[in-house]
Amino acid sequence: MSTSLQLPELFGSRVFNEETMKDRLSPASYGAWKTCVTQGTALDISTANEIAEAMKQWAVERGATHFTHWFQPMTGVTAEKHDGFLTPIGGGRVMMEFSGKELVRGEPDASSFPSGGLRATFEARGYTAWDPTSFAFLKEGSLCIPTIFCSYSGQALDKKMPLLRSIEEVSRQAIRILRLFGDTESRKVIAQVGPEQEYFLIDKQLYSRRKDLRMTGRTLFGAKPPRGQELDDHYYGAIKPRVAAYMKDLDETLWALGVPSKTKHNEVAPSQHEMAPIYTDANTACDQNQLVMEVMKKVADRHGLVCLLHEKPFSGVNGSGKHDNWSLSTDTGRNLFHPGSTPSQNARFLLFLAAFIKGVDDYQDFLRTTVATAGNDHRLGAQEAPPAVLSIFLGDELNAVVESIIQGTEYTDTSKKTLKIGVDVLPAIRQDTTDRNRTSPMAFTGNKFEFRMLGSSQSISGPNIALNTIMAEELKQFADELEPSADFQGDLQKLIRRVFTEHQRIIFNGNGYDGNWIAEAELRGLSNLKSTADALPAYIQQKNIDLFVKHGIYTEAEVRARYEIHVENYRTVLSIEASTMIDMIRHEILPAVSKYAADLCARAERKKSLGIPCAYETNTALGIAEITDNLMEECRLLASDLEDMPAGPEEAMRYCHDTLIPDMNDARTAVDSLEVLTASEYWPMPVYSELLFSV
Ligand code: ADP
Ligand code: MG
Repeated sequence: MSTSLQLPELFGSRVFNEETMKDRLSPASYGAWKTCVTQGTALDISTANEIAEAMKQWAVERGATHFTHWFQPMTGVTAEKHDGFLTPIGGGRVMMEFSGKELVRGEPDASSFPSGGLRATFEARGYTAWDPTSFAFLKEGSLCIPTIFCSYSGQALDKKMPLLRSIEEVSRQAIRILRLFGDTESRKVIAQVGPEQEYFLIDKQLYSRRKDLRMTGRTLFGAKPPRGQELDDHYYGAIKPRVAAYMKDLDETLWALGVPSKTKHNEVAPSQHEMAPIYTDANTACDQNQLVMEVMKKVADRHGLVCLLHEKPFSGVNGSGKHDNWSLSTDTGRNLFHPGSTPSQNARFLLFLAAFIKGVDDYQDFLRTTVATAGNDHRLGAQEAPPAVLSIFLGDELNAVVESIIQGTEYTDTSKKTLKIGVDVLPAIRQDTTDRNRTSPMAFTGNKFEFRMLGSSQSISGPNIALNTIMAEELKQFADELEPSADFQGDLQKLIRRVFTEHQRIIFNGNGYDGNWIAEAELRGLSNLKSTADALPAYIQQKNIDLFVKHGIYTEAEVRARYEIHVENYRTVLSIEASTMIDMIRHEILPAVSKYAADLCARAERKKSLGIPCAYETNTALGIAEITDNLMEECRLLASDLEDMPAGPEEAMRYCHDTLIPDMNDARTAVDSLEVLTASEYWPMPVYSELLFSV
């Protein structure tokens, strides 16, 4: 995108945002929309008609010809079906029309989206319904309307509907707590989210010559290059011109779409980068992160690049994740994880902190499942950040506060006195900037929690639904206990102390990479679900189902449907990887090494006939021949194991993990040894040093 607009004009120029609505709607309709989004009231059809007409005009002025209900099926990506605005008006002519009805409800022929069994074929229709709390925007000639996606009987078939439910529920419970502290002003508590997005950029031409990248998003082979990330020179390093041009284009495209992209820098691995937007409400943040991932890929294409969002495109260098920064704030703008400057604010902060700590401890297994995918298995627990064990990092200062409350002892900061909740003033808790907290899966960073286990390609909905719901549950328990209390201050203190004491095991301020931590975590009774196959069964544990059903986030059927889809997805990903591997070994690698070995032999023969030493040729050919035969055997085994995949989804998931992955690892080891032995001109695909260092 080339633009002469200044940032303030550019920002949101492709979004039908509040300001545009104020401009283009009658005061009555604007007012009705505003009460709808702030108070959850319904919009009548005449208002919807007016909004639709204004949206259409605005979009058409900007060259749009179509509209689409933009939704987030359970695949984790977004879906859209474009309809033209045009309506025939006789005489072979058309008019551009868009009604309130079309804005509010759509019926995509969506029977091919995964429903996890939620939609019997006789009611295969799915409906989309406008989410007026997320702004419509313009993308490539289409007006995109954010919508939820549900079945005929109202079951959520998407990732937005449960997210909206969880946002409301955590607000409801948090408000109960705020009332206990005498806050009569706040009407809503809003989950705030800022997702940091990591990605790789590689050259498109090189990409196109790697079938594994094209089919699976990651390299299935590749020997370690002479240089990886050992020099630590890429992290925050100077940005190369081609990458800088990409980032500029990305920023401008995102700004026009109203995404407040703020920070960009190089990441740890070569060719790895990061973008972080300014945080916003969870619903918008989720929509925007989906858009960010899409735009990242499209912009890359314009620059002759490919953006890889896979969690582990290259082995041997760091993979990509997403840091989900999460907090709660009131509609009056107060962050509830901000340690306060008055005794009452302190107590409130400590109560919300206690709820979070208890929630993460109680539902550590479920949180783990929300980041469990085949791609993320290459990161979590595999010698890079963070481990598969959930724990919370508080930093030294806040940890000392928690300790002193548990011990009932002196809190030795500047004040040197016993910390009585609701009496003494907490010191300002500084953001911990030490490097070691980079290893924590859940770090308190001053006024928010940073959930760092997410994979780079996943939707952030699931983890945020979980955080909101878990928080709602704990706040509900606290409110149920404290509301009837005759001695609020006394009971509050007791509750906070009790919760910190009972859930202290989840707090860990050390180095999460350390092998000793994993042993200690086990002693503490924390769960260590190493892989997706280990983790997913926790998704449908009764206590987890109960949590979501109780708060009206999912019905039991909705939970089970999601579980099924995750299980199925794991098998699908592994099957595609295994098939791609077999294909590449048979059609590219074996023929290439065979040719090289044969050429070596021919050369050895010729040399020998002339009486010239030919140890190099014969030894290399011998080495290659041995590994080649092993590889052939390993490939045969992989292929036959793939054929023997059990039919049942759960057995298949286990089988992929226990049988296919070891087979694939063996085959990869053989291929990578062959790559090392083979002359570059014979090797059938670009190698790591080219892929990682060419942009
Ligand atoms: P870092 O993680 O590198 O220290 P920052 O703390 O500045 O960087 O922010 C990282 C992300 O967290 C950004 O997307 C930022 O907008 C977001 N963020 C900052 N404050 C909050 C908050 N209160 N709630 C949710 N996200 C936040
Ligand atoms: Mg961060």
